[in-house]
Amino acid sequence: MTDRRTELADNLARVEERISAACAAANRKREEVTLIVVTKTYPASDVRILAELGVHHVAENRDQDAAPKAAECADLPLIWHFVGQLQTNKVRSVASYADMVQSVDRKRLVDALSRAAVGAGRELGCLIQVALDAESGQQGSRGGVAPDGVEALADAVVAAPGLRLDGLMTVAPLAGPYAGRPRAAFDRLMEISSGLRAAHPAANMVSAGMSSDLEDAVAAGATHVRVGTAVLGVRPRLR
Ligand SMILES: *Cc1c(COP(=O)(O)O)cnc(C)c1O
Repeated sequence: MTDRRTELADNLARVEERISAACAAANRKREEVTLIVVTKTYPASDVRILAELGVHHVAENRDQDAAPKAAECADLPLIWHFVGQLQTNKVRSVASYADMVQSVDRKRLVDALSRAAVGAGRELGCLIQVALDAESGQQGSRGGVAPDGVEALADAVVAAPGLRLDGLMTVAPLAGPYAGRPRAAFDRLMEISSGLRAAHPAANMVSAGMSSDLEDAVAAGATHVRVGTAVLGVRPRLR
């Protein structure tokens, strides 16, 4: 094995242990939680190694980086998640390689994604990003819709050709009442998810938890965790 392959294999094993332990502690089956490895800022060669090590789900947050990486890895059996704030002028590109967009947070984006998915002849899975630090009617500082905007956006996704409503995503807030309280934030997300599932039973994905707080997310009931640093290493500070 190359050094990088050994490093990624070791890191993956450690993350796998953390997820398994968190599932056991929460009395959940390991299969109830899917690991998504966030490969942003890391090269396509790492994505290829991860696929060889058994990773099925990868995530990116910038189209400029993701588009060429996905093209280089088109031969791999991977599911690509887009998790970053998304401008409508990037939507056509994202719809060409992403299987899931986890950062759906406004009606204009729903309309653009729908047009792009239909144009590409693809179905895009959509998660509504919930900003737990946003006031009613506002956007979060890192994207996302305030909790009281979830229902209308969900209805818009369901009505949009080419889109499939799969569930909710959040990032633990750095500000507001949930700052420093990821478990409380993820419990709140689960409550919002219950409301969503009452109207849309198939929209049962709950994407929450990153390298620092995946245990809290698993304990709360997340179905998907998004882990970057703990698998690939600390990212160079870019922006
Ligand atoms: C970068 C990123 C992650 C992964 O964060 P780590 O702390 O590196 O695990 C998860 N979700 C989103 C939306 C991200 O942008």
